[in-house]
Amino acid sequence: MVRKQIAIFGGGPAGLTAAESLSLEGHAVTVYEAMPTVARKFLLAGKSGLNITHSEDYERFASRFGASNARLRDALDSFKPSDVRAWAARLGTETFVGSSGRVFPIAMKASPLLRAWLLRLETQGVKILTRHRWIGFSGAGYLIETPKGVNVIQPDAALLSLGGKSWPRLGSDGSWLPWLREKGIAVDDFQPANCGFDVDWSEYLRDRFSGEPVKSVTASSSAGTIPGEFVITRHGIEGSLVYAHTAVLRESLTAGEAATLYVDLIPGRTRERIARELGKQDPKASLSNRLRKAAGIDGVKAALLRELAGATNLGDPHQLAGLIKALPIPLRRTRPIAEAISSAGGIEWDELDRNYMLKALPGLFVAGEMIDWEAPTGGYLLTACFATGRAAARGIESWLGRR
Ligand SMILES: Cc1cc2nc3c(=O)[nH]c(=O)nc-3n(C[C@H](O)[C@H](O)[C@H](O)COP(=O)(O)OP(=O)(O)OC[C@H]3O[C@@H](n4cnc5c(N)ncnc54)[C@H](O)[C@@H]3O)c2cc1C
Repeated sequence: MVRKQIAIFGGGPAGLTAAESLSLEGHAVTVYEAMPTVARKFLLAGKSGLNITHSEDYERFASRFGASNARLRDALDSFKPSDVRAWAARLGTETFVGSSGRVFPIAMKASPLLRAWLLRLETQGVKILTRHRWIGFSGAGYLIETPKGVNVIQPDAALLSLGGKSWPRLGSDGSWLPWLREKGIAVDDFQPANCGFDVDWSEYLRDRFSGEPVKSVTASSSAGTIPGEFVITRHGIEGSLVYAHTAVLRESLTAGEAATLYVDLIPGRTRERIARELGKQDPKASLSNRLRKAAGIDGVKAALLRELAGATNLGDPHQLAGLIKALPIPLRRTRPIAEAISSAGGIEWDELDRNYMLKALPGLFVAGEMIDWEAPTGGYLLTACFATGRAAARGIESWLGRR
């Protein structure tokens, strides 16, 4: 094998995965990272336990990427959730399956895994240059802004793994969009994914209940009926149950249509049963007492019913039971992308060949969240970033082999 020079722009999970594969093949790999340290978003993900993948049936897992299911399938087939767990274990991070089926490191953080990963990369000869930002093209080369000035490099092949646009202060800020567009590459504007929504709460609800979780409910939209919990915020709602509906709700709002999330506050009981129990209550009793005694509803759930009752006659057991089973939360807009867990949009799939190479720019490959796919939370994002990082590395390997 001839040792080739490979440049990887962006040191997040996708870029580091590609660096690991390519250095193992004996290539000279350099990672150019704009920030003072690599993988800041990966470390932040570790603050909430690092949900690294999911344990559900693989067919179901592979169907979580919506319009991109078919496009991602080859990459995921070659790096399945079980491979993610085995890879982490080889780096000394054992994982466990949580009650929701999500997979986490036993340590519930990212730093030990990242430390071991970086050590392995160093052992395999990967060079990591931090504070080195890719700032565009220069003829057949790439422009790199370094603390000592701007350099031009001409590697044998290069990978862009620059991330999406959520949490831009961690490094992935989408500043590369114009440079690729100038080359005629179609890139969809980034939009928030896995994000909260604004709701016009009354001052009372905002002051009394922001930060309160709404537990053991289901939420419905055209994405389906999904069990879980969400949180009331000063601006509206957020949490994994809301994120599972983000894509369809965002699309409605973008199309100028109303977006409503319907919440069932007592998924275990039928509307008829709730109405019957409510009908047995003293009609002169307060709403709080009737809700508590007939349906076990109080606190934030009772406050939401009052807040969102609209024209519902709360004295009518059937109408009140209907509201409990399908409480409509009208959403005004998504929260800003800077607060979102991930982003939708990015380089369109048609720009890539099966090897993750940009058709218009032979020798330049792409991986991770900067490609136009999205998925809910649950470990799908990181798994697809690892998987596309590996797929692009295989693509680079085979492209270099053919030259
Ligand atoms: C709060 C939070 C929690 C999350 N939790 C989870 C979770 O539990 N499970 C899960 O699956 N996913 C989670 N995610 C999402 C996951 O972290 C991302 O999907 C993943 O990090 C994307 O990987 P990536 O390599 O594509 O991009 P990134 O991780 O964004 O890395 C891109 C890298 O490129 C660098 N870069 C950008 N531009 C340049 C440039 N011009 N030159 C050089 N370098 C550049 C950036 O500084 C960055 O280091 C979470 C995200 C957030 C924000």
